[in-house]
Amino acid sequence: MSPAEGAPEGVVPPQLLKGQKALVTGANSGIGKATAVGLGRAGADVVVNYVAGREAAEQVVEEITSFGVRAAAYEADVSQEDQVVAMMDRMVQEFGTIDILVANAGLQRDASFTEMSLAQWQKVLDVNLTGQFLCAREATKEFLRRGVVPEVSRAAGKIICMSSVHQLIPWAGHVNYASSKGGVQMMMETLAQELAPKKIRVNAIAPGAIKTPINRSAWETPEARQDLLRLIPYDRIGEPEDIAHAAVGLASDLMDYVVGTTLYVDGGMTLFPGFATGG
Ligand code: NAD
Repeated sequence: MSPAEGAPEGVVPPQLLKGQKALVTGANSGIGKATAVGLGRAGADVVVNYVAGREAAEQVVEEITSFGVRAAAYEADVSQEDQVVAMMDRMVQEFGTIDILVANAGLQRDASFTEMSLAQWQKVLDVNLTGQFLCAREATKEFLRRGVVPEVSRAAGKIICMSSVHQLIPWAGHVNYASSKGGVQMMMETLAQELAPKKIRVNAIAPGAIKTPINRSAWETPEARQDLLRLIPYDRIGEPEDIAHAAVGLASDLMDYVVGTTLYVDGGMTLFPGFATGG
């Protein structure tokens, strides 16, 4: 039996995403960077979105083009409608279309509840939730315009929302962030329901603790690492590549029947490890 047997016709890793065009937001750092590289390695052409740090974005582009695919860095603030519309127009013009959106850009502005300013609340909602809404809406317009191209993919388009275990686990001191991710879950599921008949697959990835700049204080010192590991049954902190692998899989036709699901990639963090010995 050949390794590809049982897989949808024409899908043979590592050319799993050959000929597909992907956009990854917030792709010059952390999870977005690893995901953009992973998609490129799997054969996709990739637009690397960034809002600040052009040089880092260009480095990601260079790494991706070393796989023999196309890549380009586009500057846009995902929370700004005009910038998202312009980014998608440019992608369609320069890359022809979009097949995969990874709505990854996100940030934290932490504060205890009574100390949290409206600006902190609004900024996190604007980027983490409204940013995903805008990117998903513009990508969907292009998916619908183009429809399914069977030689490229069984779906007209794939959207992967980057959520968090905090769509499920409440997080004191981070009410803006947890609310944004809870919103991402319901947005994703609603879009999945609305768009599935159009052959657009919408799913989410909920990372646990992944070693990136967003949470440096949680893994930088040995004490912080120990504290964090207590929450992770699998006993290791995640790497950005753990999320990239999940994104490549979800974007591919190997997962063509996966619709409206959140894939938790968290080393078991959402298994409520505190109950392993109590309860
Ligand atoms: P990161 O800080 O390394 O990357 C975030 C990226 O988003 C950066 O490139 C940043 O410039 C970009 N960004 C921020 N605001 C933007 C805007 N307005 N427009 C465009 N880009 C913008 O952090 P990360 O850990 O790689 O986070 C990526 C995603 O993963 C986020 O949505 C985050 O909430 C989610 N996440 C991360 C973890 C983790 O443990 N690292 C866990 C759960 C979820």
